[in-house]
Amino acid sequence: MKVLVVGGAGYIGGHTGYELVRAGHDVVVLDNLSTGNLHNVHPDARFYWGDIRNKTDITRVLTAEAADGQPVDVAMHFAAKLIVPESVSQPLAYYENNVEGLRTMLEALVDCGVRNVVFSSTAAVYGEPASGICREDDPTVPINPYGETKLACEKMIRWVAEAHGLNYCIFRYFNVAGADASLEIGLDKDQLTHLVPLVMQAALGLREKLFIFGDDYDTPDGTCVRDYIHITDLAQAHVLGAEYITSGQGSLLVNLGSGSGYSVKEVVEAAEALAHIPCEYAPRRPGDPARLTADISRARQLLGWQPKLDLATILKSDLDFRRKLNGA
Ligand code: UDP
Repeated sequence: MKVLVVGGAGYIGGHTGYELVRAGHDVVVLDNLSTGNLHNVHPDARFYWGDIRNKTDITRVLTAEAADGQPVDVAMHFAAKLIVPESVSQPLAYYENNVEGLRTMLEALVDCGVRNVVFSSTAAVYGEPASGICREDDPTVPINPYGETKLACEKMIRWVAEAHGLNYCIFRYFNVAGADASLEIGLDKDQLTHLVPLVMQAALGLREKLFIFGDDYDTPDGTCVRDYIHITDLAQAHVLGAEYITSGQGSLLVNLGSGSGYSVKEVVEAAEALAHIPCEYAPRRPGDPARLTADISRARQLLGWQPKLDLATILKSDLDFRRKLNGA
């Protein structure tokens, strides 16, 4: 397959590019490098600079890549903003980048005859599920603008697929963390907000301490419960998803998580096995639901996919990557 990875210089797009290359696929990356880094692009992938909100940037790549008689088979969309608290304070930036960006990309795909699209959605579309366990058919009632924009994108893809005969694979990610086993790539942003890298920065003395946001949630230990999935497991699911939709089996919407929930306190305790984590409780963070854990039976059944890497491996790989990054 020839795969266009839009946002392929970012953390998830970069790891997916690596897994696509390892599976023998031809990878083309489009990225505006606003938050991504060329270093995350696999050396065997072809890189084009461009902005998802500019249709000609996308059509230019699709046209250039069709010149050898082998047009792009499937386009993957990773070029989104994804920080829950930032979406609460800057909702318009989230609608512009996430919703308008996808609309422009879909228009370019339809114009250029690309029939398959893989889209990164999120567990945040479920909102605050009563049981804390999310199934794909559960109601979608987001409690923050990030989740709202992703839900709007999901709906757009489904309508466009119906009108223009596209196949889609929508993945609802839970909490993605960790680094590729080669340690060539990992989460290397300056402005980190996600739990696992912040825990490891505290472990390495790169920040004074970790703040645990809220200890009065309706969970067993009062801290929020999330489902942590290793980036390599998640990236491999994208290869399977792209292969599925390009092989005439139709479209799909599936959760990607580990199927297990861990509280913030449990994550910190697991990390303590690797290094001391200085931490302190702080007030709740806006937009955080108490519990989000994936039911992953659909991904198992339809894709034959099974996450292989556990929380300890996630934590260790992020710590090792951060050590390498900082020469620690
Ligand atoms: N969290 C925390 N301290 C931090 C960062 C995150 O206590 O410095 C908590 C956050 O409130 C949430 C969980 O860790 O309950 C996961 O947050 P993250 O930002 O990693 O992902 P999200 O679930 O928001 O997508």
